[in-house]
Amino acid sequence: MDYGSTRFVLDPKGASRSDYAFVSHAHIDHMHKPTRNEKVIASKETADLAKARGYDLGMTTDQVEGVELLDSGHILGSRAIRIADEVYYTGDASGRERAFLGKCKTRRARILIMETTYGSPEYVFPQTAKLVRDVNRLIGSAFDRGRPVVLMGYPLGKAQLLAYFFSSWEPLFYHSSVAAMNKVHADYGVCLKGGREFDPAEGADSLPGGPWVMVSPMLSNRSHLTAQLKAKHGALLVAFSGWAVRGGYSRSLGADYSFPLSDHCDYPELVKLVEAVSPEVVYTTHGFAAEFARDLRRIGFSARTLSAYQSSLFDYSKGD
Ligand SMILES: [Zn+2]
Repeated sequence: MDYGSTRFVLDPKGASRSDYAFVSHAHIDHMHKPTRNEKVIASKETADLAKARGYDLGMTTDQVEGVELLDSGHILGSRAIRIADEVYYTGDASGRERAFLGKCKTRRARILIMETTYGSPEYVFPQTAKLVRDVNRLIGSAFDRGRPVVLMGYPLGKAQLLAYFFSSWEPLFYHSSVAAMNKVHADYGVCLKGGREFDPAEGADSLPGGPWVMVSPMLSNRSHLTAQLKAKHGALLVAFSGWAVRGGYSRSLGADYSFPLSDHCDYPELVKLVEAVSPEVVYTTHGFAAEFARDLRRIGFSARTLSAYQSSLFDYSKGD
């Protein structure tokens, strides 16, 4: 989008020509290689997390005149961006506080561009405290039977929440991809309990007999490691994702259990976010973008989908 004579691109996919590229957070699908003369707007946490994952965002800044970065609550360092009082773009956003993460901060803007991953009414996530209780009960019963438990979620963000919520269980293992992200969290004062690092290259043979807990990325049910964890250790695989609201999610993953712990807004939180920003126009993107835009129109907002993600970001200001 153009603001004055300055061109911004927001979470660009691929190369872009702009003055500023905004990178909302350090999940891999948001990584960006800046072109010459392009500056990257990102939080320091995002730049450091990216570096730890092997991506160089170049020189980043979190201070640009007329631009406000707001915590979007999705993962460590995730930001929403507000350009003057014209545009507010959420990036990936969470609508609730979880452990060391806050919820998405909002400000009024004329145009709201929002992610709508779970923008369908059946996506209502349970209270986090209740979910944590349920999972602790499950781990407890597994431990009673001497069985280890593998807690699976994205290695950046979800895994640190799992480490925070379930660190009272011993022994505690961290898959090495999770351990690398834990280190960056520690640099920013989020000190998670220490645990033993598990290098998947060494295979499940390197793990002791159960019970134990491991925080791990999602493991494919077709992987050799999963087969070993099940056959040799009788491990229970537990997946964490907002998609777990849907029946059959565990089965589709090959997990034994799944719980809807999400780093995104659920449906009521998305509606609340729109009301808080109180925009003239809403653009929806990702997930149930069309359905959510339709629902917003029903309650009186002007809303439509941002179908061609990046190019539309250039075009919308002309159209409206
Ligand atoms: Zn994300």
